[in-house]
Amino acid sequence: MIGAKEALIKKELEVGTGAQIGVAVAAKGRRSSMKIWFSDLDQRHGPVAELSPVGLFSHRVELTFGQFSGDVLAQIKAAEEEDVGLARALVASISRNVTMDFHGQSAADWIVSSGAFKLSASVRYETKPDDDVSIASTCREIIVPMMAAMAELIGYDVIEPQPEEAEPAFEGAVSQHLVQKRERNPRNRLLCIRLHGEKCTVCHLEPVKVYGSAGGIIEVHHLEPLAQLQQPRPYDPAEDLVPLCPNCHRAIHTRRPLPYSIAELCSLRTLACD
Ligand SMILES: [Zn+2]
Ligand SMILES: [Zn+2]
Repeated sequence: MIGAKEALIKKELEVGTGAQIGVAVAAKGRRSSMKIWFSDLDQRHGPVAELSPVGLFSHRVELTFGQFSGDVLAQIKAAEEEDVGLARALVASISRNVTMDFHGQSAADWIVSSGAFKLSASVRYETKPDDDVSIASTCREIIVPMMAAMAELIGYDVIEPQPEEAEPAFEGAVSQHLVQKRERNPRNRLLCIRLHGEKCTVCHLEPVKVYGSAGGIIEVHHLEPLAQLQQPRPYDPAEDLVPLCPNCHRAIHTRRPLPYSIAELCSLRTLACD
């Protein structure tokens, strides 16, 4: 039973964080807890999320750093503003039903400035905390976004295919390369799906409902409002990313370098968009 859950958690976390994950059940008195970490850092050299059942109906998740995390903390301190913004947006996407504790920091501007950093979350269920459904829900709802945020801060590289052709950057607009990087980042994809679901913004196709287990093909599109040409503003992952099915995504990028807007693609379509 618990073995099956470990495999599920590992898969969810690897897809969401784009990093390799280690999972183990740790004995803790009468009740066991579950520990989750990045495989290449192990439990002492990086962040560890620990899931513990509390009382009869609750879970507590505590994210802390292992005692030899100096190198990784230095890497986190060097994270770019955009990575920090995405990490905060991922944590902010955790449901309001979950009580978060930033241990003296605030949800809007928390930072990892030392190995004493701690992030806690508590959630209450109707069912027992050792129930499969509760454990899966806590993993998906809390641990995945928390660890994805850490992966973004640490800077796990996303393996990027070489661009098909060099795109000329044009003034005022976000460079094509940067847009592609944002669209292909698994953490951006995770955030986009958590916020907007897996339904295509243009044609409303929901690939997982149509293709079942082969339907995890929704893509992330980075909106570039025309206004950005005149008034560039900081990138906001929560606002600027929308889910599109592969067809609509391909279609929206047929105009280059500035892709069509959602409204423009809808007006080109021969089928109604809503
Ligand atoms: Zn579509
Ligand atoms: Zn796109």
